[in-house]
Amino acid sequence: MKSIYSHERYMFVMMQKIKFILLFFSLLAMNISAQELPCATQLSAKQIQDLRNFQQKISQNQVGALNKSTQFVPLKVHIIGNNQGLGYYSISNLMQALCEINQRFAPVGFHFYLVQNVSYINDDQLSLGNLDAIFDKVYDLKMPNAVNVFFHNSGNQWCGVYIPDVDVIFVKNSCQSPNATTLAHELGHFFNLPHTFYGWEGGSSFLEIEKVDGSNCRTAGDGFCDTKADYVSTRWACPLAYQLTDPNNVSFKPDSSFYMNYAFDACQSRFSQEQILTMQNDLRSRGVSKASALTSLLAAPNKITPANLDSGVSTKRVLFSWNAVPNAFAYHLQVARFGNWSFLNVDRLLSDTSIEIDLFGNWPFAWRIKAISEGNTCSEFGQADTFFTQEIAAGTHELVSTNAGFLYPNPVKRGEFLKLQNHELVRVTIYNSLGEIIFNQNYDATIGIEIPDWKAGLYYLECLSNNKRYVKRLMISEN
Ligand SMILES: [Zn+2]
Repeated sequence: MKSIYSHERYMFVMMQKIKFILLFFSLLAMNISAQELPCATQLSAKQIQDLRNFQQKISQNQVGALNKSTQFVPLKVHIIGNNQGLGYYSISNLMQALCEINQRFAPVGFHFYLVQNVSYINDDQLSLGNLDAIFDKVYDLKMPNAVNVFFHNSGNQWCGVYIPDVDVIFVKNSCQSPNATTLAHELGHFFNLPHTFYGWEGGSSFLEIEKVDGSNCRTAGDGFCDTKADYVSTRWACPLAYQLTDPNNVSFKPDSSFYMNYAFDACQSRFSQEQILTMQNDLRSRGVSKASALTSLLAAPNKITPANLDSGVSTKRVLFSWNAVPNAFAYHLQVARFGNWSFLNVDRLLSDTSIEIDLFGNWPFAWRIKAISEGNTCSEFGQADTFFTQEIAAGTHELVSTNAGFLYPNPVKRGEFLKLQNHELVRVTIYNSLGEIIFNQNYDATIGIEIPDWKAGLYYLECLSNNKRYVKRLMISEN
């Protein structure tokens, strides 16, 4: 009997594997089709009319010179997971994407800044980029007077879309990894740019065909005279592998360098001057930008807990804390088992300078933190620290942990009062970094300790009651 059971079990496991392999290949197929359909944006009739009017003004020299002063553009990011909260866009990729966007838009004179921390949305349909769901729900979710970008996990084949009716951008997570240009392309649409191959979206042009000599550049194609003729509405490697032929029978290849074409991301690097004028005009009409924002590149915060090489850290509610950095908009926290940053246990953007997180298992974990300003997400992580966790069985009387209890302020200065939450009789002992006892006292209520003239540095505070023990790191800072 046992061998039959094992055989069934074996078959079951094999079937699961085959299912997984089939799923893997269908995902591959989806990726290929995603490359064929990079973008689902269709500008509205009114946008096209406004664009044509503006382009006529360019022709008649009624448009002023490029605005050289930087406009700071409010950006609101939404990250969508499924109903279980799975499939979120990674904060690492987001930080890099925003950093890159500001480099790509520097010649445009736009600098994006975060108006609010990231919002997380759990919704099966939105996470699939379902257009019905987007129309139903996004109007209530978006933030007024900002550029709203939603990152979603999978589903529809397209990589990105700007939807004029609700005025939001949707980007598929896998299409905005480092160095990708999907977001730059969709932001171009947001600010009223059509594709360079405008008219050819269905495969053959429904418009007058743009000639290479530029003689009909204002009335054909995208209507810009400084973007070369382009008829290619599928993804292409640059340079294009074949020749196009214009209405005068001239052979040519399109310019691969524009963000608004469908060349591979690595080919794209710019907007044309007329495209930039158009985006500046659109931003002006929206009236949402401001003249300044904090764009300083911030140094990494000093970490407080867990301390480097801390061991026996209880996996329950591990306290991560660090010092505030002036002008910080938020802090990016990463925790990775064995310090493997490709598989993150924690990857979060936090407004606070501490957070408690449950981990699992008896493992070494590494953690690192960086500070970002509202307009600069390009900062680097500080050095990583490693600590060792220990699962503690429920019901154990002696809890040895560095994360229970609450000290405030921490770091504390000499002469300041250190407060400790307490509701029972406890014995408080403070050790210096050599493990020598330098303070020892009993308390029966909320504790306030005036810090004497001790050297700045790391100390350990031990709290003992009749059924609990915990140890916390205490930093004493220079006055
Ligand atoms: Zn597009």
